[in-house]
Amino acid sequence: MTRSEQLFDAAQRVLPGGVNSPVRACRSVGTYPRFLDRGLGSHVWDVDGNEYIDLIGSWGPLILGHCREEVERAVLDAVKKGLSFGAPTAAEVEMAELVCQMTGVEMVRMVNSGTEAVMSALRLARGATGRSKIIKFAGCYHGHSDSMLVKAGSGALTGGAPDSAGVPKEIAGDTLTASYNDLASVEGLLNANPGQVAAVIVEPVAANMGVVPPQPGFLQGLRKLCDESGALLIFDEVITGFRLAPGGAQEYYGVRADLVTYGKIIGGGMPVGAYGGSRKLMELVAPLGPVYQAGTLSGNPVAMAAGLAQLRILKNNPEIYTELERKGALLEEGLKDALSGIPVQVNRVGSLLTVFFTEQPVTGYDQARSSDLTRFRQWYHGLLSRGIYAAPSQFEALFLSSAHTDTEIRRIIAAAGEIFQ
Ligand SMILES: *Cc1c(COP(=O)(O)O)cnc(C)c1O
Repeated sequence: MTRSEQLFDAAQRVLPGGVNSPVRACRSVGTYPRFLDRGLGSHVWDVDGNEYIDLIGSWGPLILGHCREEVERAVLDAVKKGLSFGAPTAAEVEMAELVCQMTGVEMVRMVNSGTEAVMSALRLARGATGRSKIIKFAGCYHGHSDSMLVKAGSGALTGGAPDSAGVPKEIAGDTLTASYNDLASVEGLLNANPGQVAAVIVEPVAANMGVVPPQPGFLQGLRKLCDESGALLIFDEVITGFRLAPGGAQEYYGVRADLVTYGKIIGGGMPVGAYGGSRKLMELVAPLGPVYQAGTLSGNPVAMAAGLAQLRILKNNPEIYTELERKGALLEEGLKDALSGIPVQVNRVGSLLTVFFTEQPVTGYDQARSSDLTRFRQWYHGLLSRGIYAAPSQFEALFLSSAHTDTEIRRIIAAAGEIFQ
């Protein structure tokens, strides 16, 4: 038995499924999780001493790779001054100023996770509009708050059914589900619920059903439908924020949302989330306004130090984004070539990429779900056994970081070419 298997045995006795977040358990690919020991740049090592090229990057946060010197130093300096105060610190002001400069939001509130950012933004949207209903898209993930654990109901115009036990149907009923890249489905829901929809929330690039780019005009169309109906447009940029561009998807696609949520990259690997928007909307949040939201560890000084150090590097080195685009294209083209014999779709936006094992172009949830999961499992194990650590699910993205080299990308492509021979 490997050390990872031993640890997993022990873990399963005291943690549900042996993990603290379900996908890590690797159940859909029929294996045990590799317990990781350390990372450096684009590489990670497991507790058995195996080395991998890391294509997960902690599920997005590590856009500069593991243990980037400036980030590590900032964290160590902050640690020496105290782990938490529950009082304002200078780092929070610098962080908020930087986020506002990079993204164009006028005010921002720090929280501790993407889930919390979304939950708070939804409360703010409801508080600001006096409306209750929310439109989300099937296959988009917005964290695990009650109202977001809903997928498509069978009747497009009825309220959703909860996706998880423990979500009251009264709460799920206020979540309406539309189809990604299908403006008519949104328009239908808005027309069927006049004056009742507080917000439309969307991943501007869907990355939690695998990567599905917005089709030309989709985000602009959402903007227009929201303006006409008085619903707020919320971009959930927990993945796309600071990844597609310094200003995230808003900058990349030239569409502005009313509220934006961040997570992942904003914390540089520490637990941070944030939501922001116009001064007018954000001034509705406590202590200025009637929308209550709070957090004992929000704006934690060590977490702020990590996030700030990473965001500063991104802001001051815009060539990082052109390089990520170039490397992403290199990987995309190489994978298409290497896998040309079998039915695949390689979907990519910048440094986010998914190989779907299906014949159909993947533009939404239904096409993503047509993927051959047996083939995906073979793909996952083929990569893992060749030293490439990729997401153990068809419905996740691969994440490139600035630490990945062309040589490593060629190694990934070469490995991909061997798997189905
Ligand atoms: C990861 C993710 C979340 C949830 O963030 P957590 O920090 O895991 O709570 C929300 N929205 C999107 C788009 C995400 O990818």
